[in-house]
Amino acid sequence: MLLDIDPNINVIAVSKQRTPAEILPLLQSGHRLFGENRVSEAFEKWPSLRESFPGVELHMIGALQTNKVAQAVEVFDVIQTLDREALADTLAAEMARQNKSLSCFIQVNTGEEPQKAGCRPQALETLYRYATEQAGLNVIGLMCLPPIDEVCALHFGLLRQLAGNLGLKNLSMGMSADYKTALRYGATHVRLGTALFGPRDLSPYKA
Ligand SMILES: *Cc1c(COP(=O)(O)O)cnc(C)c1O
Repeated sequence: MLLDIDPNINVIAVSKQRTPAEILPLLQSGHRLFGENRVSEAFEKWPSLRESFPGVELHMIGALQTNKVAQAVEVFDVIQTLDREALADTLAAEMARQNKSLSCFIQVNTGEEPQKAGCRPQALETLYRYATEQAGLNVIGLMCLPPIDEVCALHFGLLRQLAGNLGLKNLSMGMSADYKTALRYGATHVRLGTALFGPRDLSPYKA
């Protein structure tokens, strides 16, 4: 059990910018759930780590460009950042080609920040219908990254409400600084980097 978090919660160890040597102790302790935010970096590190540690579940938690989808489907198990119809189409086509089925979360831009990925809350239902009914994807939950300068609880509450409206059970919300609040709002998946590994800028990893 990591950080005294209820064992029913999915703790995603965010291993971006961490070397395999930094990731190894967690794998050796039995942890199998990890997140990366860049396709190329995941490709560099995880195929060999997986050979030594079967059962790893790797989540894509960063913005996904359509030209990286083939590689993403190859290296990841779950995509948390589905946020547009074109990406749903590309993911579905690539999963069919590789004969792999990855579960997806839709990323919602709860703060409606122009620079941030994620679909707008008002566009969520249409995207959800498209992704499940047209593209045939297995959408299992919602994910968000609240604006850094706002009360995170409002965003976690909104995400929970949106998921409830669609009957979706999984909520990926909460990072090192705010995961305890996210858990109070019903997070099923928390994404923890610095809380598990320490400050990222001390890592020797250079992508
Ligand atoms: C880096 C990252 C995290 C983890 O951040 P910490 O503050 O180090 O816990 C969580 N989610 C996403 C999408 C990230 O990019």
